[in-house]
Amino acid sequence: MNLKDQVVLVTGASSGIGRATAEAMARQGARVAVNYCRNRAGADEAVATIRRLGGEAVAFPADVTSAAAVGEMVQDVLKQWGRIDVLVNNAGALLARRDLSGITEEYWDQMMALNLKSAFLCVKAVWEQMVARNAGCIINVSSVSARNGGGPGAAAYAAAKGGLLAYTKGLARELSPQGVRVNGVAPGLIMTPFHEGISSAEMIQKGIAGIPLGRAGTAADVAEVIVFLASPASGYLTGETIEVNGGMWMD
Ligand code: NDP
Repeated sequence: MNLKDQVVLVTGASSGIGRATAEAMARQGARVAVNYCRNRAGADEAVATIRRLGGEAVAFPADVTSAAAVGEMVQDVLKQWGRIDVLVNNAGALLARRDLSGITEEYWDQMMALNLKSAFLCVKAVWEQMVARNAGCIINVSSVSARNGGGPGAAAYAAAKGGLLAYTKGLARELSPQGVRVNGVAPGLIMTPFHEGISSAEMIQKGIAGIPLGRAGTAADVAEVIVFLASPASGYLTGETIEVNGGMWMD
């Protein structure tokens, strides 16, 4: 799965799945743009880890819900390396668990902006230079919630991730004839800072009890599948979203 000299932009790479993906891509020889929003220290640590291993990485700040910020970030990456071969739309979050009585219009819009619109904004900023080379990969990080509607208080999040799964297919139809493969992963229960403040220990134990492989996933479990989707080994895959969930949901 050699990605030598490929330029990879990973959004939300200061933590969890994004950070593990940035590091896994670099281990395959890629040059990695490590995007972050608030956690500069996390991004700097990812960059330092990659450089320690002899790889190339630079941190790029941007709030991926802002078209202006995304545009500036992409221009900066292009200035650095001249092209972007792989875009991983990973940034996302379940900001709070809210049922219908607690959901405001503002919260709904925030969830859509962070978990769905962000991917469109990043695609919009990178696609032309991919199509111009008739090559590229876009990988969207969806969620098992796109399949099962989500856990408690996560319906809006699930709707956004379901939208992302459908967008992966639509985009694959549009861009694959022009040389750009578009795929996704749908992580299940993955132990990252994602769950801090929104998932109790009891909720996590209950989740694990329903996983045939008998454990929660790690960020690396997901990162390795994302690397596969970026590599020539998955050259005949497009429009596909791979479940990475230990069997918690089988589709
Ligand atoms: P983490 O909380 O560990 O990481 C989330 C990342 O998203 C951080 O790097 C954060 O950056 C970034 N981010 C959040 N908001 C923005 C923003 N506005 N602009 C740019 N970056 C932003 O969570 P995970 O690694 O677990 O989550 C990664 C993806 O996986 C998400 O899309 C999540 O929905 C999805 N997922 C996770 C699951 C799990 O169980 N962990 C299950 C299913 C899907 P910063 O801190 O710098 O602001």
